[in-house]
Amino acid sequence: MGDGSTAAVVWDKGLLAYDLGGDHPFNPVRLELTIRLAKALGVLDGVELLVPEPASDDELERIHDVGYVTAVREAPLVGWDLRHGLGTADNPVFDRMHEATSLVVGGSLLAAEKIASGAVDRAVSIAGGLHHAMRDHAAGFCVYNDVAVAISWLLDHGFDRIAYIDVDVHHGDGVQAAFYDDPRVLTISLHQHPSSLWPGTGLPTELGNGAAEGTAVNIPLPPGTKDPAWLRAFHAVVPSLLGTFQPQLLVTQCGVDSHDEDPLADLSLSVDGHRAIYRALRELAQKHAGGRWLAVGGGGYQLLRVVPRSWTHLIATVLDRDVDPSVSVPSEWLDPVRELAPRAVLPVTMGEDKDTAFQPWGDGAGLAVDKAIADVRRAVFPLHGLDPDDPRD
Ligand SMILES: [Zn+2]
Repeated sequence: MGDGSTAAVVWDKGLLAYDLGGDHPFNPVRLELTIRLAKALGVLDGVELLVPEPASDDELERIHDVGYVTAVREAPLVGWDLRHGLGTADNPVFDRMHEATSLVVGGSLLAAEKIASGAVDRAVSIAGGLHHAMRDHAAGFCVYNDVAVAISWLLDHGFDRIAYIDVDVHHGDGVQAAFYDDPRVLTISLHQHPSSLWPGTGLPTELGNGAAEGTAVNIPLPPGTKDPAWLRAFHAVVPSLLGTFQPQLLVTQCGVDSHDEDPLADLSLSVDGHRAIYRALRELAQKHAGGRWLAVGGGGYQLLRVVPRSWTHLIATVLDRDVDPSVSVPSEWLDPVRELAPRAVLPVTMGEDKDTAFQPWGDGAGLAVDKAIADVRRAVFPLHGLDPDDPRD
């Protein structure tokens, strides 16, 4: 890589076992199609894939109650009166649920370990990003919170200032909750406004408790927000906070359900916008976090047209092998997908010909997103010694 960064990709077919079954939108085919597209484009040529082991109970219990871990392990055998959010439409019980979810956690932990040991500067596990899982219950398709476990592990292995950035369309509530009292972890979530989307949290007034006040940051965006407005909000808030917080590591949840075609939510980003986000995250890791960047996946339910392209861009960005949006989607990838879904309109190129250029906030343009930006800056910036009204901050 040009700047001397090293990077690793966590992947193993075993991760496909996190399968909520039936018509559930969280379908592991999205992971398989992503890896196949990345391979078809040569993005993974010569890259050794890191194969994870399941996380141990001790690792899971960094974040989760013992009783919950037991409930998850026993759920496929019990089948009734499960509690803990298990056995619902969102979080159905499936065979070997504990083992499959532990492996997802193990993937994010392996990525964290490689960065902590100095073996690599960056690592990505697209199977990770189960950001809604809570201490004692499953939520929003998430059983164990792999990313919170990985951050907790990092806090015990040489890191005491970690910035977590969550760009999934849903609020990163589980990760926020895990570190709501911990000033060592800055959590920043950009999401569709909670008045119009589950889980209904993520207002700018959620700031963190006690000494951690100001280390929970929430940027709720209006439905219909497109790439330029999303990026305007991101750049109006995130770089300044990273500049003052000075993280040693960036952890990012890279859900792609913010796409215009996603069936579960109503933001209007494009694959090009996702690519621009990843490039911005990489630049921020270089500038503010010593080049260290741990990226995980997350939501994303347009399985054929969006997730494979967007997460191929994520992997490529982590590896410094950026793929131009004009590059054709290879027939090697398209042909089997066409057989799988003969009626689907499949993508032709790696982009959508969308302009992601944006005007930086502070130009007084009075865009719809500017109220959201002002609300966040006014709530958070003074707690970091920053001026909410000064565009230079
Ligand atoms: Zn989501």
